[in-house]
Amino acid sequence: MQTFTLNLGGMVPGETYSLRLRQYGSDKGGPSVYMQAALHADELPGMAALAMLEPQLLAAESAGKLCGRVTVVPMANPIGARQFINGRHQGRFDVADSLNFNRHHVAIDEQLIERLEGQLTESADDNAAFVRVQMATIAQQALDDPCLSVADQLRWQLFKVASNHQYVLDLHCDNHALVHLYASDSSWPALAPLHHRIGSVATMLAEVSGGDPFDEALVRPWLALQRHFGETKIPMGCHSCTVEFRGSNDVNPDYAEQDAAALLGFLSDIGVYQGEVEHHAAPKRSVIAPLTAMSIIRATTGGMVLYDKDIGDWVLTGERVARIHDPLEQTWLEVFADQTGLIYGRPIKNWVRRGSVVTKIAGEQPVRVGAVKLLTD
Ligand SMILES: [Zn+2]
Repeated sequence: MQTFTLNLGGMVPGETYSLRLRQYGSDKGGPSVYMQAALHADELPGMAALAMLEPQLLAAESAGKLCGRVTVVPMANPIGARQFINGRHQGRFDVADSLNFNRHHVAIDEQLIERLEGQLTESADDNAAFVRVQMATIAQQALDDPCLSVADQLRWQLFKVASNHQYVLDLHCDNHALVHLYASDSSWPALAPLHHRIGSVATMLAEVSGGDPFDEALVRPWLALQRHFGETKIPMGCHSCTVEFRGSNDVNPDYAEQDAAALLGFLSDIGVYQGEVEHHAAPKRSVIAPLTAMSIIRATTGGMVLYDKDIGDWVLTGERVARIHDPLEQTWLEVFADQTGLIYGRPIKNWVRRGSVVTKIAGEQPVRVGAVKLLTD
């Protein structure tokens, strides 16, 4: 195991941040896998899973059971980790500019194409290695800008490290939710083993979700290069995804062990971990569908929500899922399912404003085709 510390320059004198990463195994054969947790710094289930997984990776490495390289960044957002507002941790948005830490990630398609013109060989493997070098070079040039904000340094550093891997797993959680997964459609079925291992109840696929999240920044350059230069010259160099390990309160030893076993199982499935890992019981119902088939039902009025249907419930189109109460007028507004599917997530708090998310339903029919933003912010 090797440990690296990457420094991020603070914005004012006395302010410093660093990223810690640990690398297990080696590049001598086998795929490379990158895992990071808590990019949304207040989402800890992934950090808990990695805390249980890393000792197992170390043991596997010592026993000669790792074939490939696994890089772990257990705390991907040191900026958000220290943001407490009025005594409460707030790790999703940067208080300096109100931007979501998992949006606005880098887009380097054009720069890469320019750099690769006339440089490619007939060997897809050689080309992939060359692409990775160019990605690192572009990232380093961006990092050399002395005016880069610390949050953008974080975005580029994470990209630079992750882009040197064939699989990228960004570990998050939702508010109150069951395990679900977002991935590029180009990464399906390559990530099907992960879907099964983690017990995803809803795996949602899209090439572009509209918010430039971290996982897409890793995949999109490869897709752009394949379109420009052709798939015989450019392989799909990265399969990337966002794992949502349930809700933000689901941080406990049992889930951490279970999720670590799922991640180790995935490493076994793709040939990195040379050992058997038992499958956990699969969920009773599981949806694999385009991201456009995910309904996000929003409140048309503010108030207190009382739920008829909870996460894990299967609902039919038109069924009532909740009521919103206005305590001043003593009125109730009914909220209905707009499609048949599985409720996989909802807010953790019951007080909503107009436009707030009330519930999320994973269906199988695309209901949001043409929507520019498919993710909630
Ligand atoms: Zn998140």
